[in-house]
Amino acid sequence: MTEQSFQQCLALCLQVQSLQGAAHTPELDALVHALQGVVADLRASLDQQNQALCVIDQMPLSLVITDVAGYITRWNLAAQRLFGYSALEATAQHILMLNADESADIDTSMTDLFAEHDNTTVEVRRRKKSGEVFRTDMSLTVLRDDDHNVLGFVAIFSEIDKRLSSEEMLRMHASIIENSDQGILITNGDERIVSVNAAFTRITGYTLQEAVGQTIDLLRSGAHDAEFRSQVRAALNGSGPWQGEIIGRRKNGEIFPQSVSISVVRNDNGSIAHAFSIFSDISVMRASEERMQRLVNYDNLTGLPNRTLFDQLVGQALALARRNHDCCVVLALDLNRFAAIKDTLGSDVADELLRQVGQRWRKVLRDQDILARVGSAEFVAALPSVHKREHSGLVSQKLLSALDAPFDISANRVHIEASIGISVFPENGMDAASLLLCADVAAKRLQADNEPGYLFYSPEMNQRAKEQWQLEGDLRHALASGDLLLHYQPKVSLRSGRIVGAEALIRWKHPHLGMVPPAKFIPVAEETALILDIGSWVIEEACRQIRAWMDSGITMPPIAVNLSARQFDRMLPARLQAVMDRHGVPPDKLKLEITESLLVRGPETVIPIMNDLVAMGLALAMDDFGTGYSSLANLKRFPITTLKIDRAFVIGVPDDENDCAIARAIVTMGQQLRQEIVAEGIETIQQMKFLRDLGCDQLQGFLFSPGIPAAAFERMVHDGIRLKLDYLD
Ligand code: C2E
Ligand code: MG
Ligand code: MG
Repeated sequence: MTEQSFQQCLALCLQVQSLQGAAHTPELDALVHALQGVVADLRASLDQQNQALCVIDQMPLSLVITDVAGYITRWNLAAQRLFGYSALEATAQHILMLNADESADIDTSMTDLFAEHDNTTVEVRRRKKSGEVFRTDMSLTVLRDDDHNVLGFVAIFSEIDKRLSSEEMLRMHASIIENSDQGILITNGDERIVSVNAAFTRITGYTLQEAVGQTIDLLRSGAHDAEFRSQVRAALNGSGPWQGEIIGRRKNGEIFPQSVSISVVRNDNGSIAHAFSIFSDISVMRASEERMQRLVNYDNLTGLPNRTLFDQLVGQALALARRNHDCCVVLALDLNRFAAIKDTLGSDVADELLRQVGQRWRKVLRDQDILARVGSAEFVAALPSVHKREHSGLVSQKLLSALDAPFDISANRVHIEASIGISVFPENGMDAASLLLCADVAAKRLQADNEPGYLFYSPEMNQRAKEQWQLEGDLRHALASGDLLLHYQPKVSLRSGRIVGAEALIRWKHPHLGMVPPAKFIPVAEETALILDIGSWVIEEACRQIRAWMDSGITMPPIAVNLSARQFDRMLPARLQAVMDRHGVPPDKLKLEITESLLVRGPETVIPIMNDLVAMGLALAMDDFGTGYSSLANLKRFPITTLKIDRAFVIGVPDDENDCAIARAIVTMGQQLRQEIVAEGIETIQQMKFLRDLGCDQLQGFLFSPGIPAAAFERMVHDGIRLKLDYLD
């Protein structure tokens, strides 16, 4: 209620009182009317007050009203939100409860505060109900009545901790610039450097002192043309933001690629105050990009293109050949017996061999020819413009001859041969993939026969290749499902006529193809690691059989098992010993037949393994002797007890003079080395007589018996086969 309305109301009431008891007069009516007017005024005034309070409550600013002593009389909703106290909690509390700093003294502080800050805004620290301290702007107003008496205070708070002071902002910007990973260079309107950051110095080598006052030519590498440079200059002069790559030069002279963005800062009048370039050194990224590129497209070991890049390059070559009606040739270059070399000499030597083979072949080919490595021991070449397919034969011959000289790798002298398959565009295929497939089929065909050389693809080969793949799958299955078995072929002593040994020969009982001979599947297995599993199975099975014969009390001669060159590694003696121990097989019951192919690995590797085997009490026979390429000098160094003359030299005796001479030479040599001589593949009595007269110790061949199942062999030993020898007398 206003003071004026109150006074009016009082006077009117007194007058009404004085008229009490009087009759209804116009005077009284007038008084009542006046009183009604005053009441209406009062109501309006009250409404205004309520409205004012409502506005205060809804204000977005936190508003706190206190009395003269600083005790809170009004606390709006925004204050409640900001400080966390409800109006009920805050009202009648002293405003200093909101202070963050405990030291405030109620009596003095209020006066000081308002004396100092009347009608000003100050930045203060305050505490919320939750205890959180925050920074806020506080504007203070003193409430006075018409006579300027202090009625109380109004404090308005607005939170500012998310707003930084301009000073803080400057400090923050400076720190961001200084600590940025990217180099930052700022030039003035005259294109002179006025500032650089630490990353600039780290990347370019120039300190702030060295850079300031220079132009951006400080980093000029000379790699860009005038047009490019004028674009950059225009950007520094405000032509618009610019981004790109610039090749710069460091202080030490090193060239480096940088990714740069340039912008300018203008004055209020629109002129350029500063230009800044932000750049990162992308030389590391570039290098790793190039490395990635190499990894994706090149063979790590030889540095030659890999299959991906080969396909791409051949694709381009074929497009050209198509336009020019030329032919294009693809050669699959497979290294023979590489797996055996790797197994024996180790992967370091094998890797070096691949590198050197790659180098020799690259030298043989012309620059426009493509050479790639596409598999462990598989290279491919493409001859993009060959006028006649026959020319590729000449190139193949050159590639083969490049391997003639042995490779000397860390004290090993390694020989390697290759099989080359050739396919021709457009006859054999229209794209890189199908040409490579055909060339590969031809190369594998040669490899299966263990023949170095080259061979043109022909469509019939595909059929054979399919059969080989099929065979490999079937063989894996056979190994797992027990379709393999051993047959035993007797060795007969020429002195006693008795069976003095037997060779265990593997057989595959194929569910559809019947009995598959080893010549069909052993070479396929040799191409994969399957031969190791097969070899282990053979040793296991032979030992099991020997044990079974021992257990049944039958005296049986020693059994020889054939070893693949790939089985012949440093762990072979231990593996064998473990199987023999498991079955309780004494070493004199087991013999090992090895082939000359093993010797390609070098005597230094194989001799220690052979010695270990001999030390275990096992006898070693050199199988198929005469067909390989071991030097006779080496043979002397091997601890071999038996030489087996290959059937190839037995076939021709006694009529073929050459074969007779070879057989005679082998026997003489064996005798000198005090080795036992066994001739294989004896089919006729003439052969038998001739070899006996030469001085062979034992014979093995169909004349006596082919390989037969264990039970049949057992009977044969029991019955003896002396009869056949009767022909001799
Ligand atoms: P190899 O070790 O030289 O075995 C002798 C081969 O000559 C056997 O062929 C045998 O049946 C055959 N043979 C024996 N006497 C005569 C004969 O009078 N006339 C003719 N035409 N052939 C005769 P097979 O069993 O087909 O084995 C062929 C080759 O397969 C073996 O030659 C051997 O290199 C390999 N092989 C056989 N079994 C195994 C094995 O268990 N492991 C490994 N790694 N290779 C094996
Ligand atoms: Mg053999
Ligand atoms: Mg043989």
